[in-house]
Amino acid sequence: MDYEIIIAGGGMVGAALACLLGQAGKQVAVLETTTPAAFSPDDPFDNRVSAISRASQRLLEQAGAWSSVLNMRAAPYENMQVWDATGSGLIRFEAAELGESDLGHIVENRVLQLALLATLKTYPSVELLCPARLESFELSQQQIQVKLADGRQLTAQLLVGADGAQSVVRSLAELPYEVLDYAQKGVVCTAYTSLPHLDTAWQRFLPTGPLAFLPLPEPQACSIVWTLPADQADTALWWDEERFQRELGQALDFRLGEIMSLGERAAFPLRGLHAQPYVRERIALLGDAAHTIHPLAGQGVNLGFKDAQALAELILANERADAGSLKLLRRYERARRGDNFLTQKAMEAFNLVFSNTLAPWQILRNRGLTTANQLPLLKYQLAKRAMGL
Ligand SMILES: Cc1cc2nc3c(=O)[nH]c(=O)nc-3n(C[C@H](O)[C@H](O)[C@H](O)COP(=O)(O)OP(=O)(O)OC[C@H]3O[C@@H](n4cnc5c(N)ncnc54)[C@H](O)[C@@H]3O)c2cc1C
Repeated sequence: MDYEIIIAGGGMVGAALACLLGQAGKQVAVLETTTPAAFSPDDPFDNRVSAISRASQRLLEQAGAWSSVLNMRAAPYENMQVWDATGSGLIRFEAAELGESDLGHIVENRVLQLALLATLKTYPSVELLCPARLESFELSQQQIQVKLADGRQLTAQLLVGADGAQSVVRSLAELPYEVLDYAQKGVVCTAYTSLPHLDTAWQRFLPTGPLAFLPLPEPQACSIVWTLPADQADTALWWDEERFQRELGQALDFRLGEIMSLGERAAFPLRGLHAQPYVRERIALLGDAAHTIHPLAGQGVNLGFKDAQALAELILANERADAGSLKLLRRYERARRGDNFLTQKAMEAFNLVFSNTLAPWQILRNRGLTTANQLPLLKYQLAKRAMGL
């Protein structure tokens, strides 16, 4: 056997799993097609960022990668303000009220991935193969043999599919999945505003979908995720810069003043996906390969990190067991499926309720936000849950 575990995909989730296993001396190979460009502090902000919860921060600390994230760049946010465009409903969370220094961090995906890849290279039992594309595999009773596009062949007890929403491992393993197309796209870019973001994550629910302004390490720079019906998102990408700035400022009700300039724009189709099951003999899926959710509360990669933690803990707690045994892998699935399912459905419910234009729903959700804002205990519970605590 070449390795105990082969991880297909060295994205944020696969690389985190490799670090957790590498720390314990597990023989791991990580296959990754491309690594991101090296970081320089002068680089413009990337348009793909993640809101990293406290629980994910702790996992990244445990994996040995968090200091490397902070050495590049990350923006802690201390407040969050969520409001409805069709009424006066508003809810505001403050880290100080919870006795916390911040509610989480906004980190560029590239920074997270680079930090994790640099960390995994420090563990002698982990090997990063890049460029390496998994093309096929063959299962036998004792092992799984993975074939790469360049002809190399590797064997292991377990193959982990951490290869994202279009997972090749999932399709080769014939693991079925449910998919729900939200008929929306998330338009992302960096926006420079005339007013400072005040270390606050801003989210406005519009009938077309939610708009988030996530604070970046410069006081007037935010990363935006603007959810729009798919055709409107495509149109917005074609607007000239002046029109996009005007419409974006208006969509946020000018809370951060005018939009002064923009980074590169992109749009991602939004769909919910859930594999059923996540595992079969010698194969396990995690992260986006197992589930994707609506990005409105920024929980996608946070769920993936929880998957990585659950799988690593199980493998390490059962040192003498075959890491690819279906019995062990089913325990991983049982540990994670409920949380992933409930989070996915909760995001879908929020998306539906807040984009509903019927008057009773508008009244109900505005009252809901206002009432929740006035109930400190409920707010505390909501914030702690979002922080993964
Ligand atoms: C608009 C938008 C905003 C979002 N905002 C947030 C947020 O604020 N917070 C949050 O938690 N989540 C957010 N998400 C979700 C988050 O981006 C994903 O959950 C996360 O990227 C999943 O990470 P992953 O490592 O599972 O998959 P990926 O990031 O897709 O990584 C998969 C890796 O596998 C590699 N790969 C693929 N195929 C192969 C192969 N055959 N062989 C070898 N390697 C392969 C790829 O190169 C890639 O590096 C957002 C998503 C969207 C669309």
